[in-house]
Amino acid sequence: MIKAIKGTRDILPPESAVWNRVEETAREVLSVYGFSEIRTPVFESTELFARGVGADTDIVAKEMYTFDDRDSRSLTLRPEGTASVVRAYLEHQLHRDPQIWKVYYLGPMFRRERPQKGRFRQFHQLGAEVLGSDHPAIEAEVIELLQLFLDRIGVGETELLVNSIGCGHCRPGFLRKLQVALSEIEDRLCQDCRRRCRSNPLRVLDCKREACQPVIERLPSILEFLDEPCRLHFDRFLGYLERRDIGFRIVPRLVRGLDYYTRTTFEITSRGLGAQNALVGGGRYDGLAEVLGGQPTQGFGFALGLERVILLSRQGDRPASAGQPQLFVAPLGEPALDRASLMAREFRRQGIHCFMDFAPRSLKSALRLANKLQAGHVLIVGENELKTGQFPLKRMRDGRQILVSETEVVSRLENGF
Ligand SMILES: [Zn+2]
Ligand SMILES: [Zn+2]
Repeated sequence: MIKAIKGTRDILPPESAVWNRVEETAREVLSVYGFSEIRTPVFESTELFARGVGADTDIVAKEMYTFDDRDSRSLTLRPEGTASVVRAYLEHQLHRDPQIWKVYYLGPMFRRERPQKGRFRQFHQLGAEVLGSDHPAIEAEVIELLQLFLDRIGVGETELLVNSIGCGHCRPGFLRKLQVALSEIEDRLCQDCRRRCRSNPLRVLDCKREACQPVIERLPSILEFLDEPCRLHFDRFLGYLERRDIGFRIVPRLVRGLDYYTRTTFEITSRGLGAQNALVGGGRYDGLAEVLGGQPTQGFGFALGLERVILLSRQGDRPASAGQPQLFVAPLGEPALDRASLMAREFRRQGIHCFMDFAPRSLKSALRLANKLQAGHVLIVGENELKTGQFPLKRMRDGRQILVSETEVVSRLENGF
C-alpha cells in the first residue's frame, strides 16, 4: 500500500475543522490590523533562498527540498515565507507606493528536518510582513496582534522574548569582541558552532544544543555594543510594549537563525512546548531587500508554526460543529431518491446544510444514521409522500414530527420548526 511520505501527514475531518477555525481567526485578526493576504508560489529559484535565508543556515545547508527542473534550472520548495514576500515586493515595484505594505501569508512550507513532536517536513506557517517602515511602534503593534490571535484561539502561558541585534554600523564591533571570546572557548562548543565561529559567529548564540548553553551564557552581550540610534530604537520598542501592558523578557542571546535580521528580534515561547521551542519567531530585516538585489527596504515580520499552535490551542478540545447537517434527507426507494436529490439541491441553494442519503436502506436505518451524524432534522421522502406532496419532517432533538410541503421545509428549519 502506498503511504504518505515520512514527515508529512493528512489533516482529516474533524481535525480540519479546527484548522479552519484557527485560520479564520488569523484572517480576522490580521484584517482588522490592516494586513491583506499574499499568495506566492510554493517553489522559487534556489538562489532566492540561498541568498535570502543565508547559505550558512541549517535551512539552506541541510534542509531544503532542491531539485533540477527539466530545463536544468535549480528550484526549491519554499522553506519559509519572507524571502518570497520581499521578492514579490521588489518584482512588482511596490516601493514606489509611498504607503507601508502590510501582508500576511498562510500555507505549507518544506524543510527536511528530523521529525519530532509537532514538527513536519511539510508544515504550515502563518506569517506577516510590514515593508517600508522602521518605526518601533509597528513592531509593538505586530506583537500586540499576535497576542490577540493567540488569546482568541486559546493558546495561553506564552512568554515574549525580545532582543536587539544592532545594525551594520554597531554589530561589527560586537562581532570582533565575540570572535575573540569564541577563540578562547571554541573547543568546548559543538561541531556546528565551531564552523560558525568562522563563518557567522553571531549564530553561535543561536545554537540549540544543550552542551553549548553554559558556554554561550558567558559570551559578551550585544546589548552593550548598540550604537545610539539602535539603543534608542530598542528603548522605544520596549516602551511601546510597556504602554500596551505586554510583558517581555530581554534575552541577549536571541539572534534568530537567519542572516538578514537587524535590530529588533523576538520570539514567543510556550510552556507547553519547552524553552527551546518557539511558537513564533520574528524581527526586523532591513537588509534583506538589498541582499536580493533590490532597493533598501525596511521590513519587520513574524512566522508562526500552525501545527504547534494548533497542538496547544484549546480549539482542539471543542467538538467540531462544521460537519453536523441541519437536514438529513431520507429517500425511500430509487424513484424517490431521484426527486429527493433535486429537493436537496433546492435546500442547499437556500443555504441549508443538507445530508443526502444515497444508500438503499430502511427508514429505521436512515434514522439511526441521522442520529449518528447529529442531524437536526430528517425529511422522509417516499413514493406516497411524492403523490400527496406532504412530507414527514422529524425533529431529532425531541422526536416531534410534522407534515410539510416541499416549499415549507426551509422556513420551518429557519424558524425553529
Ligand atoms: Zn546600530
Ligand atoms: Zn553549538
